[in-house]
Amino acid sequence: MKTLLKNLTIIPMTEDGLSFTGDILIEGRDIAAIGPDLSSDAVDVVKDCAGRIAMPGFVNGHTHLSMTLMRNYKDTCSNLQEWLGQIFPIEDRMDDDDIYWGSMLGLSELIRSGCTSFADMYFHQWMTARACKEAGVRGFLSLTLFGDEEETKDRLSVRRMDEELDGDLLRRDLAVHAIYTCSDGTYRYTADWAREHGAIVNTHLSETRKEMDDCLKDNGCLPAFHLDRLGFFDVPCYIAHGVWLQDDEVALLRDKGVALVHNPSSNCKLASGIAPVSRFRKAGLTVGLGTDGASSNNNLSMVKEMRLAAMISTVSTLDVSALRPYDVMKMATIDSAKALHADDLVGSLEVGKRADITIIDPRKANMTPLNDIFSAIVFSMDEENIDSVYVNGRCLMEERRLLTIDEAEVRRQALKRWDRLRKED
Ligand SMILES: [Zn+2]
Repeated sequence: MKTLLKNLTIIPMTEDGLSFTGDILIEGRDIAAIGPDLSSDAVDVVKDCAGRIAMPGFVNGHTHLSMTLMRNYKDTCSNLQEWLGQIFPIEDRMDDDDIYWGSMLGLSELIRSGCTSFADMYFHQWMTARACKEAGVRGFLSLTLFGDEEETKDRLSVRRMDEELDGDLLRRDLAVHAIYTCSDGTYRYTADWAREHGAIVNTHLSETRKEMDDCLKDNGCLPAFHLDRLGFFDVPCYIAHGVWLQDDEVALLRDKGVALVHNPSSNCKLASGIAPVSRFRKAGLTVGLGTDGASSNNNLSMVKEMRLAAMISTVSTLDVSALRPYDVMKMATIDSAKALHADDLVGSLEVGKRADITIIDPRKANMTPLNDIFSAIVFSMDEENIDSVYVNGRCLMEERRLLTIDEAEVRRQALKRWDRLRKED
């Protein structure tokens, strides 16, 4: 199957500030050619996209997809610890169907906001995997590990995820929740398991000041050094949050090839702080972008996340050039892909990479006049400007119409699942 998208403004995210007019040829799941006036000979579908913009689909570097069910719930908690105390008992009661419909709800929102792949940290991962395959969205899916080594071995003994893995649309990662919920043994065991199975690991790290202070008290070192001593950075790894990372921790992560995923909405909402990511980037750390879960954000839109990342960087550094719009777009695409060790597949529009493409329609009041295209995307764009979305060459949304998800049915089922969970709370 060959599809030719014609007459686009293309932002490939391969070179600072680059955009040009041209066509994109999709062959199977890959980008086969990019350039001006590509031939339509032997092409199955030709789409004239004049007036529209193509960019790599957003890569949401950290989320908990099925937490969509708990959106706008327990919203008066004053900090992360209090909020987790309210949320954990609900999560303990979630079953396979809750995870499936929560995932489908999240996937609808991801597609509608131009996101083509995401890193998930949650439970019953086989149901999220099933939802991803049906919806056609790329997932880097981590089972979340909690507690001590014995609990970890129990969780890892469930092999239902193995049946769901198929091709490169899905990848199985492993997540250790955090140093305040997991033992040292869990971190060590997970790193060993990942090494043996060729898996990539991730964890929440240095999210709050309390986490940093407690680690210093309990372990005599900062959180990143603690995990390094446990060997967690000796396997491919990415971390979420890093709000309180100190300079020597940033240097350690950079030298170990561990990237950070920045989650500004969640950090603001839970009063965790502002991660100084422009400083981290200057120090050579790769920084991606993620939404975190919909119950601490309370949405899954990378469009909104980019805008907030730019705004809070500027106001916290008092420097508008500390994180330019193009830098934020990098964080949301190629740098998230690098963070997830997936930049060989996605994150930029290049021949040979997967055809994960987001098409933007700027011909609406909020993006008129366009002037600076990068400013327009970061500061003016909203989800309604996301016109079409492709993953692995498959069109998942065309002119705002979802092609793989029955959104009304997903909403109905999700509300039903949440109704039950809430009544038990
Ligand atoms: Zn998280």
